[in-house]
Amino acid sequence: MAETLITSEVDFEAEGKQSGYLRVPHSVDRSAYGWLPVPITILRNGAGPTLIVSAGVHGDEYEGQIAVAELANDLAVEDIIGRLILLPMVNAPAAAAGRRMSPVDDGNMNRLYPGDPKGTPSEMIAHFHEEVLLPRADYAVDLHSGGESLKYPATLLRGPGHTPEEEAGLEKLTEAFDLPYAWVFTSGGGRNSTARTAMGAANRKGVINVMAELGGGNVVTREVLALARRGLRRTLHALGMLPDYAPDAPRGTRLLHAKGSIYVYEPGLFEPLKDIGEAVSTGEVVAVIHHPETQGRQPDEVTSPYEGIVLAIRSLAQVRRGDAIFQIAADAG
Ligand SMILES: [Zn+2]
Repeated sequence: MAETLITSEVDFEAEGKQSGYLRVPHSVDRSAYGWLPVPITILRNGAGPTLIVSAGVHGDEYEGQIAVAELANDLAVEDIIGRLILLPMVNAPAAAAGRRMSPVDDGNMNRLYPGDPKGTPSEMIAHFHEEVLLPRADYAVDLHSGGESLKYPATLLRGPGHTPEEEAGLEKLTEAFDLPYAWVFTSGGGRNSTARTAMGAANRKGVINVMAELGGGNVVTREVLALARRGLRRTLHALGMLPDYAPDAPRGTRLLHAKGSIYVYEPGLFEPLKDIGEAVSTGEVVAVIHHPETQGRQPDEVTSPYEGIVLAIRSLAQVRRGDAIFQIAADAG
């Protein structure tokens, strides 16, 4: 077992269904011997693959937290073949606060892997995720969303396969999840990944893994949540882990490559002229930035340096220099 100060209330090797907490030691004024609780549920039923489904690496991304907690509540061990590890609130303090960053240590966990076993709580959790949990997994799904500041359509994210087996596994997960969009990375990944994300952690451990961006803007929509619920069950079924589930017909996924984000230079109020999924051309005006504090000042126009479609859009009207207002992607291939 890797060095860690985190203890687990559940036994990763035991058969059956267990729910409990990872205890992240946290000694503070109000609780000298206390720990921060990271909820975890494990279902294990005989031989089969191990899948980790995580959400709440960023605390203000809610659809995944709901869908993972629901699986933990709803599934009985007899429903499963193999081992399913469910983490609905990986960075639990951030999730409890509804924030991207943890209020305990300002940790943005998806920028902290591989973490530090003796670091801050966010670093300790990242380390535990990478060094204790992921080495046990064959597959991993990490659920995100646009959070407070962005909105995405339901979008799967996957890297390039570095071996025929990895490519086949990634295609299988993409088809199984069956979200409307997939953002396919053209580089990175693999065992030598240096990414400080949960995806980078899974890649370093040789785990076939995808992530998803599910909605955002601090709300939960019925449409996106339904796609997340369906996608997780379809994925379990496709891996042979939920044999009695009867998937409906696939709807198909539009495969995209990211082109880049469009940034603001003038602070003000962001008026979008494009919605998610709309086409943009190079040089086209896609937003105006208003300046109500200065009488007579005309709005600034923002043009797109890219051709493609809008994949993500900023959900907050106030903007400062350096804020991304759109992410643009284009059809893959
Ligand atoms: Zn996120």
